[in-house]
Amino acid sequence: MEIIKTIDHMQQASDGIRMEGESLALVPTMGYLHEGHLTLMRAAKDHCDRLVVSLFVNPTQFGPNEDFEAYPRDTQGDLKKAEDVRADIVFMPSAKEMYPQGAQTSVVVKDLPQHLCGLSRSGHFDGVTTVVAKLFHIVKPHAAVFGQKDYQQLAVISRMVMDLDMDIRIIGVPTVREADGLAMSSRNSYLNPEERMSALSLKKSLDLAQRLFHEGEKNAQMVKDFVRSYILEHPHTKIDYISLCDPVTLEDANTLADGTLMALAVRVGKTRLIDNGRLKK
Ligand code: AMP
Repeated sequence: MEIIKTIDHMQQASDGIRMEGESLALVPTMGYLHEGHLTLMRAAKDHCDRLVVSLFVNPTQFGPNEDFEAYPRDTQGDLKKAEDVRADIVFMPSAKEMYPQGAQTSVVVKDLPQHLCGLSRSGHFDGVTTVVAKLFHIVKPHAAVFGQKDYQQLAVISRMVMDLDMDIRIIGVPTVREADGLAMSSRNSYLNPEERMSALSLKKSLDLAQRLFHEGEKNAQMVKDFVRSYILEHPHTKIDYISLCDPVTLEDANTLADGTLMALAVRVGKTRLIDNGRLKK
């Protein structure tokens, strides 16, 4: 496995792979890899001959009061895991390499970021689309793999790729969960045992909404109210949002239908967790 730290070197490596007629997949990550990330990497290898994993904690997608400094990091552990899934290249640039002095261009998707996480994380998706567009130009992949756990991120990136005619196939992978249902996340490492128990309320509330819908409930507000009180029964929880919305536009839905997206962001202690699921008839 090759470790590459500069943009020039990565671009050359990817030109070489393309010249050999091989296809290339990219899995962008912020590191502190877990089974969710590794599942994305295995899916990438099913679609392409070669796999590039990027490890980059992107400063521009963190707000001033967010956890950029505290974000968990374990480069040696990450390299071992990437090697175990037989990644071909790990691209791990510094922040200076990615954002040299004077940089002043960004990629902005207009409407999709105006919902869900975008409402409380101002500028977050501009940071995401800009860094992902840069990674696409640096790695030049044929396909890129993202998790459905970050549903809005996947929607925003798919939109960017469509709107800017980027010749890259975007592949979404279902959320990988712990045995008890908690969506895997690098941020789960912040939770103490009591908070870890309360964190289960996210997945359980998705199941609760699914059950209500299955029993015939169509009123989105009813379901939101029910879920809100259920989550708040758990210690240390504070709700950022509970949304029932259209899975494509992310606009609020008043009436539930097959395929409606339920998305949640909840603070458990100081840790902000997200989860989502689609309602099924
Ligand atoms: P991150 O390192 O948190 O930026 O995540 C990198 C990629 O892994 C993103 O596409 C995430 O959606 C995806 N991912 C993170 N957690 C999970 C999970 N539990 N299941 C599936 N994909 C995930």
